[in-house]
Amino acid sequence: MRLLMYSKALYSTWIYYSADRILFDAGEGASSILGNKAFAIRRIFLSHGHADHISGLIGLVNIRNNAMGDKEKQLSIYYPKDNYLISEMMKFISRTNRRLDYQLEWVPVEPGDRIELLSGQMPRYVEAFPTVHVHNEVSLGYNVVEVRHRLRPELSGLSQEEIVQKVRTDGRDAVSESYHQKLFSYGGDSVGIKPAYVADTEVLCHDTTFLDESDRKEYKHATLAEAIACARDARVKKELYCVHISSRYKAQLKKLSAASGHYDGLDFKVTLIPPGRIYVVD
Ligand SMILES: [Zn+2]
Ligand SMILES: [Zn+2]
Repeated sequence: MRLLMYSKALYSTWIYYSADRILFDAGEGASSILGNKAFAIRRIFLSHGHADHISGLIGLVNIRNNAMGDKEKQLSIYYPKDNYLISEMMKFISRTNRRLDYQLEWVPVEPGDRIELLSGQMPRYVEAFPTVHVHNEVSLGYNVVEVRHRLRPELSGLSQEEIVQKVRTDGRDAVSESYHQKLFSYGGDSVGIKPAYVADTEVLCHDTTFLDESDRKEYKHATLAEAIACARDARVKKELYCVHISSRYKAQLKKLSAASGHYDGLDFKVTLIPPGRIYVVD
């Protein structure tokens, strides 16, 4: 299981990214659906403070203290700095959980901040980027990024032997260069994300509250066309997951699954996450 998600606009959104044990947003029902996996979560990244993205925090913090499982593991919650609603939730949880068996850490984040996940040969980090949602609240999206190494493009014509020889004479850095590969991007609630923020990501989760532009009355969420345009312009490599779909489209569920798949001219697969259903990506 790579991803476990639940997303229904206005009600609840959360996405569990198992590779790095991260929960992106924590809408209602997260702990009851995740069950024992709630203990696996190391970090929670919150996009903004609306109830449908943070109301599951109360259950998650509590269950890790009370249910059977490893209660020693620290839990870190990252949130947009100066977000009023999340600050209030933080105060409530702190006051009502004075004696936790594990360490609970709240970390304010600003656009551009990097949070290290792994060090070593292939370091990984989460990077925050700004999103546009509502005017009176700070909101963020997040990229999971891996630092990788590749042959310098100017040396691509060399044979294996020539490369080995060059490493011997000039060292490894003369032959390889590092690059930062985005593995997963989550935009939270937002109008169309600026493609530069999620450029070349492998997997993008984009707000798709509206399938039809004419249903959008206020400019604070994205449409399916905008989600696809963002993914195309960002050159998404593998998958676009359209999340936060309004339940008004529930009657069209069959049409939704028909709309998922490979589109002509796009390099990535488009999947519409049906509102109100648990969705697993293996
Ligand atoms: Zn929402
Ligand atoms: Zn929202």
